[in-house]
Amino acid sequence: MQLRSLSDLELTNKRVFLRLDLNVPTKDGKITDETRIVEALPTIQYLLKHTNRICMASHMGRPKGGPDPKYSLEPVGARLAALLNKEVVFVRNYVEEPVNQYLDQLSPNQVVLLENLRFHDGEKDGDQAFAQTLMRGIDVYVNDGFGAVHRADASVSAAAETLPPAKRAAGLLIQKEVAALTEVMAQPKAPFTVVMGGAKVSDKVPVILNLITKCNNLLIGGAMAYTFLKAKGVDVGASKYEADQLSICEKIFTNAESRKVKIFLPVDHICATEFSEKAKPVAVQTPAIGAGLMGLDIGPSTREQYRQVIEKSATVLWNGPMGVFEWPAFAGGSLAVAKALAETKGKTIVGGGDSVSALNQAGVADRVSHVSTGGGASLEFLEGKTLPGLKVLAK
Ligand code: AMP
Repeated sequence: MQLRSLSDLELTNKRVFLRLDLNVPTKDGKITDETRIVEALPTIQYLLKHTNRICMASHMGRPKGGPDPKYSLEPVGARLAALLNKEVVFVRNYVEEPVNQYLDQLSPNQVVLLENLRFHDGEKDGDQAFAQTLMRGIDVYVNDGFGAVHRADASVSAAAETLPPAKRAAGLLIQKEVAALTEVMAQPKAPFTVVMGGAKVSDKVPVILNLITKCNNLLIGGAMAYTFLKAKGVDVGASKYEADQLSICEKIFTNAESRKVKIFLPVDHICATEFSEKAKPVAVQTPAIGAGLMGLDIGPSTREQYRQVIEKSATVLWNGPMGVFEWPAFAGGSLAVAKALAETKGKTIVGGGDSVSALNQAGVADRVSHVSTGGGASLEFLEGKTLPGLKVLAK
């Protein structure tokens, strides 16, 4: 899909609505990973060369029922101000006070950031009236929030549609993301290995079914591995698995076999007797897990086997952690995969918040070809879906 780009826009002194994905993780009001803010900078800086009337907007977390200080974008505004060396005018009450009034009074050293769009139900509902409210007096619409393009939220699609196509464009980050993911889907160099992990098979079925038509190897980890193992008749003890997904796993096995795609499942595990950060890790050196134990990470033999497959691949796509990555005792498998990707000479693409955190924690984020800022969006893109936020920016 060809998207309208920033260079297609007439920007001089225009009032620009810039939809970003500034949904960064925070702890006690402090930003713990600023990747998404940093990734937004090139587009903001590009726009600032042509106009200083920029209104930035984003969602943050999943607030329910109106404003909640826990999900305020204010700390993000402070960080943006420091990174841009500009004053960020933080506008909370943009429904009552039209944002164009702020934009018309801005000095060259100021930019506007709106409070969390999801404090208004109209955002998630894709509400036309809320979109009109956001776009009052706006001349140009730019979306660079790749992490939200799979959602038909008001600021993502209805807001764009308030302007004619010639006045909308994708920012630099969206262009970069779409180019990287399109390349993987259109002409992946073989051997192409997909590494899938995370909590649920059910979330990943459509993407697995699509990728199986393109890849040579599928390495599976995370809780979803236990559903696949169970479907093969292997005992998984007290591990999390989805009973209602066993037949779809069988379908995936048959599909893979007919396409000569090799599916790899864990051959050993790091287990525990309870689902707790404090649980004592227990190494299980067989694919089968005994009663009373639950698999919380892939074991050392699996890590080595996966490393060898990754190392020999020309293209590797990774989405989802190999274990309960948030707990240090069960993060080893995800860190090993992160390192294996960094060491391979092939093209490496990583999507999904936890996999990206694993890369950062292993200190190798700069050693992969592309890190996607949008977990859900990249998965839906890889499923082959048309994403609403991209559709409105198509040429
Ligand atoms: P997802 O959002 O589907 O990528 O899933 C990520 C979540 O899966 C993380 O919060 C992990 O803690 C969780 N997870 C990964 N492996 C396991 C496992 N073996 N048992 C339980 N949860 C897991």
